[in-house]
Formats: sequence, C-alpha cells, structure tokens
Amino acid sequence: MNIILLGPPGAGKGTQAAMLMNRYNIPQISTGEILRAAVQNQSLMGLKAKEYMDAGDLVPDEVVVGIVRERLQADDCDGGFILDGFPRTLPQADALKQSLEELNMPLDAVVSLQVETDVLVERLTGRRTCRSCGKVYHLQYDPPAQNNTCSCGGKLEQRDDDCEETIRNRMQVYHQQTAPLEDYYRDANLLSVIDGMAEISDVHEQIILTLQNC
Ligand code: ADP
Ligand code: ADP
Ligand code: ZN
Repeated sequence: MNIILLGPPGAGKGTQAAMLMNRYNIPQISTGEILRAAVQNQSLMGLKAKEYMDAGDLVPDEVVVGIVRERLQADDCDGGFILDGFPRTLPQADALKQSLEELNMPLDAVVSLQVETDVLVERLTGRRTCRSCGKVYHLQYDPPAQNNTCSCGGKLEQRDDDCEETIRNRMQVYHQQTAPLEDYYRDANLLSVIDGMAEISDVHEQIILTLQNC
C-alpha cells in the first residue's frame, strides 16, 4: 500500500497517518517530523531548514526531495509507505514520480482531506505534540488522559510554528503551492477526496473504505 496524504496544515494528515501505520504496519514518512528532528539535532540541514519553518515557508524542494528519496529506500518501505506532508509543490510531485518509477513502487492512492479554514486554525492552535515520541493531541478534540502528558510519559508542547501569524502564512503557502497538487493527482486518476471535518475515527473509517476500493 503506497499512499500519499494530502491536505492543508491541520487537516489531520499526521493523525490519520499514525492510525494507518498501525493498521497496515507500514511506515509514516512525515517530512515535517524529519525536518524538526534535524533542527533539534542542529545538523547542517536542520540549521538551513529552521528559518523557513519558523516563517511558515516551505523548505527548498531539493532538500525535501533528497530526504524522501533516501527514506523510501529503507527496508521498512518494502511493504508500503504513507507520505504525510510530501509532496507540497509540483516539482516535488514530479521528483517523487521519478523516484517511485526508479524504485518500482507505484502509488496506489492519494487521499485528500478537506477541512474549512476556520476549523484548521482552531485545530492548529489547540495542537500539542509529545516531545519524546511525537504523538499528536488536541486540547479539546483529542486530549491526553493526563494533563500535558503523553501516553508514553513524555511532556506535551506546542510547536513554534503553530502560532497565529505563522499559521496565516502557512495557509497562504498551501493555497499557492500545494493545492494545485489536487488537480495533478486527479489527472493521474489517483485522487480520493475525503471529508476531514468528521470525527477522527470516522475519517479513519472513510479512508479505509476508500483504500479498499483502490
Ligand atoms: P496535519 O498533520 O494535517 O497538520 P494533525 O494530524 O497534526 O494535522 O491535526 C491537527 C490537529 O487537529 C491536532 O491537534 C489533532 O489532534 C487535531 N485533529 C486531527 N484530526 C481531527 C478531527 N477529525 N477532528 C478534530 N480534531 C482533529
Ligand atoms: P503541517 O502539516 O502542520 O503543515 P508539517 O509538520 O507537515 O506541518 O510541516 C512543518 C513545516 O516543515 C512546514 O511549514 C515547512 O516549513 C516544512 N516542510 C514539511 N514538509 C515539507 C515539504 N514537503 N516541502 C517543504 N517544506 C516542508
Ligand atoms: Zn509520547
């Protein structure tokens, strides 16, 4: 099962990718998570990526394309993968197409999560992430059992880029650079559009139903 999850910031890509990973036992490849880890480790790539991420802009294509190409060659992708947050531009989609052809890993589905903008903002401002394991919560919609603490015991924190000003720019970037990918994958006959406004478990069920028909 080779899947892309598409959608604006806050649509639920990470949440659904984690559920699909457990269900199908295939890895979630989140470029945002890989980049945040690089920032935390203060690697050269992390230092370069940080200023883009802090501003809510996209990290240059060649950086993320390289990350994904390498990640797809790891053994754990043999049975499939879930791309979460990649591709985000047309050049990234073209580069992915080429990599997947070379690796002989054809895409099965591109699932696009549709959510209204005001709901997205509410989701992003209430999002909390575990510092240790990366698990995602929401203060109202998906709260941790214990205040501010992940099920793994880690401390929850708010991402630096989940502040209102940066969110506004990320939405604009999405509409300008990422939204055109819907037509790209519709033309390739791979796109499935899902209502992302429903409850987390209902969205998951809808995605499963869609994937069963692929
Ligand atoms: P993305 O990866 O697309 O940016 P996330 O999966 O991180 O989105 O979700 C953004 C926030 O919204 C998180 O706090 C998450 O808990 C919450 N969330 C995700 N899906 C839903 C949903 N269907 N209903 C309500 N809240 C949701
Ligand atoms: P969200 O789903 O909430 O937008 P992500 O964790 O996917 O957040 O991405 C966080 C940030 O990491 C983005 O705003 C961007 O700066 C960078 N990033 C992640 N994926 C990509 C990508 N495919 N291309 C360029 N930049 C990316
Ligand atoms: Zn945790």
